[in-house]
Amino acid sequence: MVKAAEGCPHPAWTPLYDAVPDYEHRASRAASFVQCPRCELIRQEPLPSADTLRDDYDAEYPADYRAHVASDDPSLFARAVARLKEVQAGLLLAKIRRFLPDHGAPILELGCGAGHFLRRLRAAGFSDLHGVDRNAELGPALRKDGIAFTSCDLDRGLPLERRYHTIVLNYLIEHLADPEAVLRECAEHLVPGGQLLILTPNSASVAHRVWKRFWSGLHAPRHTFLHSPASFRSAARALGFERIDITFPTDPGSWALSAQNFVEGHRTRAAAPRYGTKPYALGLLPFVYPLALAESAAGRGSSMLARLVARGAGGASKPARDAIV
Ligand SMILES: [Zn+2]
Repeated sequence: MVKAAEGCPHPAWTPLYDAVPDYEHRASRAASFVQCPRCELIRQEPLPSADTLRDDYDAEYPADYRAHVASDDPSLFARAVARLKEVQAGLLLAKIRRFLPDHGAPILELGCGAGHFLRRLRAAGFSDLHGVDRNAELGPALRKDGIAFTSCDLDRGLPLERRYHTIVLNYLIEHLADPEAVLRECAEHLVPGGQLLILTPNSASVAHRVWKRFWSGLHAPRHTFLHSPASFRSAARALGFERIDITFPTDPGSWALSAQNFVEGHRTRAAAPRYGTKPYALGLLPFVYPLALAESAAGRGSSMLARLVARGAGGASKPARDAIV
């Protein structure tokens, strides 16, 4: 089922989707995608520059995308979307709790957004927390809650000054102009035996097979690279990680959002969904949940959670051990 990525990187990119519009926020830039038939890695073609990606966020998108949900919006729908983010942060913590160190170990989240996940860690007793996000407006509230914060554009280098036990990249790498450069930088800022925990869409998922250009993982024009388990293993091995585990968390949100993209993509005149989400998509969640459960049980979930573990303190170079998939 999992394709071998032996011999990649990518001798022949093949056209996949032409001019996919922004179904969620109605930005003007459409994105085309190509795919490597050998390892199933997808990338935008042409690959947008860091400047284009920055302009996409700064000029093209409503403020509600950057801050996720405006905290001063009292509407029931805004509160429901914000609550969903909190629930997602809680689910993420439940998924990765067994990988986390003792409460004093330093943990970094890149692309921390409004800090839902870091606040969950704080509430669970973790004390040495650091968030990085390009949106400087998020800093004061996080610092007030005892969480260190650095504002930077990850496509222009990562100003890390110390090492971490765990670095979390929660749906981040698919947004980057050069994800491998950021992963390399992360690898260099882990303590011996430290780990990267990475959530990202899975290009080899059942949801992608079903929804094709409407698959939420494409998130045109913001997503640059969409990995498969095979392509991600190949990239992680090249970075020298000792151990690579990939699992598939249940992701009903991907199915609901893909269905929303399908519906909105067939409407001729429709307003951009507020916060990128239509209320009916939230209502779909219970109905698509069994589909999401089934695809993740089959090892072909819409999202994958990769755990990349660096060499331990002894520097022993054990052979890379792949697990689960
Ligand atoms: Zn490839």
